[in-house]
Amino acid sequence: MSATKYIFVTGGVASSLGKGVISSSLGKLLQARGFNITIQKFDPYINIDPGTLNPYEHGECYVTDDGKETDLDLGHYERFTGIRTTAYSNYTTGRIYQSVIDKERRGDYLGKTIQVIPHITDEIKRSMLFQGKRSHFDFVITEIGGTVGDIESQPFLEAIRQLKWELGNDALCVHLTYVPYLAAAGELKTKPTQHSVKELQSLGIQPDVLVLRTEHELNNSLRRKVANFCNVAPTAVFQSKDQPTIYEVPLRMQEQGLDAEILRQFGMPIGETPGLGPWRSFLERRHKATEELCIALVGKYDLQDAYKSILESLSQAGTYNDRKIKTRFVNSEKLTPDNIAKELKGTDGMVICPGFGQRGIEGKIIAARYGRENDIPTFGICLGMQMMVIEFARNVLGLEDANSVEMNPATKHNVIDLMECQKNVTNMGGTMRLGGYPCILREGSRVRAIYAQEEIRERHRHRYEFNNEYINRYEAAGMQCTGVNPDTKLVEIVEIPDLNWYIGTQFHPEYSSTVLKPHPLFLDFIKAAIKYHTK
Ligand code: GLN
Repeated sequence: MSATKYIFVTGGVASSLGKGVISSSLGKLLQARGFNITIQKFDPYINIDPGTLNPYEHGECYVTDDGKETDLDLGHYERFTGIRTTAYSNYTTGRIYQSVIDKERRGDYLGKTIQVIPHITDEIKRSMLFQGKRSHFDFVITEIGGTVGDIESQPFLEAIRQLKWELGNDALCVHLTYVPYLAAAGELKTKPTQHSVKELQSLGIQPDVLVLRTEHELNNSLRRKVANFCNVAPTAVFQSKDQPTIYEVPLRMQEQGLDAEILRQFGMPIGETPGLGPWRSFLERRHKATEELCIALVGKYDLQDAYKSILESLSQAGTYNDRKIKTRFVNSEKLTPDNIAKELKGTDGMVICPGFGQRGIEGKIIAARYGRENDIPTFGICLGMQMMVIEFARNVLGLEDANSVEMNPATKHNVIDLMECQKNVTNMGGTMRLGGYPCILREGSRVRAIYAQEEIRERHRHRYEFNNEYINRYEAAGMQCTGVNPDTKLVEIVEIPDLNWYIGTQFHPEYSSTVLKPHPLFLDFIKAAIKYHTK
């Protein structure tokens, strides 16, 4: 077995250039050559994990199957490659410091002054190598959040500098930069890239491969110029031009030979270029799917990244149903019984989104009611499911003040209650019910038919639950609890079988939908929306 190779992906010039997509694409291409790969992310901010961050600050919080709240880029890693990331796939500065400080208190460093170098950098290095040591990977791709030059990135870059030195031929650095187009001059500018590489070099890191993000085609002379000024081989400069979908990026990288160049630099045999058959078929189908279907996203965060995995799951399911998915954000804070018909006009189904806290929940309840009364395909996820449950209690069971104790701790009808295991929780970070749990699907139910299996496993992120004291009343009135955790009896799924498609899940199916394995619930939801559309 040959030694694990480490690929570090850094970014310069600007944030949001798509390091996550480049890392995922590279992972995909190496995997297609038969290599066992994993991808991890190191984020320089101080929160221990993004679980306590507002989605406006950092986009969606992605949850791994083993129950870690992580950066949304891990969602890309899973969607592109089908790998399962873990608690060891995402570290932050806070997590690194916490571990060093715990060790200091335990006395692991007795007698020593604890410093950024070497203690923090050693801890970063240890964490960067951890997954490669725990199981065998041919390649470990490590993405570094933020941009080169940020104060908080420095210990991470110093760790990479040292690792590149220690690992020698088993490590290399891919640097992603931006080449702006100055319309007035009619020119593409390489100076920001040169500066960004200089910045890296001043920290002792020579990038081995450059990926230039651009809105315009980069010609060979520009690539040669960049290679020349930045000390990289001319064969090691790639362009990442804007694509109609991020799922095109692996193909564009393969055409230019990014994976082959990496193998060449590692001194590994290059071999045949993999055909990427299933991936290409997915893209072909996606391009052919021109007929549009519009799905309303009822939520409170007017920001694409806040519902990233839901958007991707819908769009993947659209492709497999030969539809192009348009989403319409419907701000639940502004929904009223009077404007809902107008807000949803022209949409073919709605997702009632996850969330926390009071803000915007009455709008979600109005949406749940409108969906139920008008038999619109409606998919409630986590808080969305809880709002379906509250709506049903208020308007069908006649429990007027039914609520979640999250919103009203004194409610008489606590149809959504705090989970027993949450009652003594005082710390907010990392203490929800997190990650994958089993769920048994009731025979004869819609969801059982959709999944075509009895036991499933789905990921969670919540503190509140369906209150089982009310189960009988719900079932008698037509809302069925068709998915239940076999150990704790927590209700995981509710559905109204009399309606076309009205399903709420306490879990988050969106975390496990991938390009080549779209999630059955999203596939079926889109089918129902198509039927509704053509009616
Ligand atoms: N706020 C709800 C809870 O904690 C729902 C969480 C969510 O939507 N992820 O139970």
